Amino acid sequence: MVAADSPARCQLQGINQYNGEFSCPWCLIKGETYWIDERRHKWIFPTKKVHQSRDQENFTSHLRELRDLLHNGNNNVTNVFGIKAPSKLILLPKFDIVHGFVFDYMHTCLLGVVRTLTCAWLDSKNHNFPFYIGHQEVEINCRINLCKFPVECQRILREIKDIKYWKAHEWKIWMILAVPLLNGILSQPYLKHFSNFVTAITILCKDVITRADLETSDNLIKQFCVVLPDLYDSSYCSFNVHLVSHSVDCVKNWGPLWAYSLFQFENYNGVLTNSFSGTTEVGLQIAKKLIIAENVCFIKCFFFKFNGKKLLFINNGKAEILSEVT
Ligand SMILES: [Zn+2]
Repeated sequence: MVAADSPARCQLQGINQYNGEFSCPWCLIKGETYWIDERRHKWIFPTKKVHQSRDQENFTSHLRELRDLLHNGNNNVTNVFGIKAPSKLILLPKFDIVHGFVFDYMHTCLLGVVRTLTCAWLDSKNHNFPFYIGHQEVEINCRINLCKFPVECQRILREIKDIKYWKAHEWKIWMILAVPLLNGILSQPYLKHFSNFVTAITILCKDVITRADLETSDNLIKQFCVVLPDLYDSSYCSFNVHLVSHSVDCVKNWGPLWAYSLFQFENYNGVLTNSFSGTTEVGLQIAKKLIIAENVCFIKCFFFKFNGKKLLFINNGKAEILSEVT
């Protein structure tokens, strides 16, 4: 299994970037240009059609086709169905170059769909749209401040004025709280639409997911994707929205979304970046720090004699006298 965000995944799989044609890692949707104005445009992925899936067989066949075209001097060809380079991962025994890549709900849902829609609701540029709630920011902040979070919750939700600094954990809290919190603020069709998305993703994050759960989630996601361009605009049919339509298949293959989300890996990135200074022998510095950290953990849970009289247990840096040694 390979878990990566979209920019990294495109490179690892050897396919077009997410803002190009045929860039979905799991299907052959082409996408199309959406003109924002006369000069600016973006690449969108229409939500109302089902597209042929990629699999190991058609992926390697398209890669071979690309190789043959380039071999025959067709230097203008840049890709075949989005495949533009041979991924080294193809050489990994038993690795499925299509389904070996997993859906990352941290980037796709929390930092993707949830953030995009929330920012659209609050952006004053959208003041003419029925989903605009930026003028209700004070009321939203009041409701956020009334929320009581469990003591286990390491990060609480900051106010809307800090929204551009919200971390993925805050977007996760917001995703869960937004529907009750915006009741009476965001108009019902939009609230219901977002609620479908939240329910679907929450189901896919359960510890135990039944076939009925998968079916419910699949239906909710289909509804969410199909209705999105009518409620908002086709410009909201982003790459992330399209990827959400593959989330249920990923859960069928690999289990709940939390099990391979990038939360855990990115948390560890913080540990790694704090394990070196400067640019000299970075790998060696990290290795040394990790070995020291592992040994400290071992010492923390080690019994030893103190003054030849007392048996101590060191736990998290605190010494506890367990018994007198005679
Ligand atoms: Zn796709």
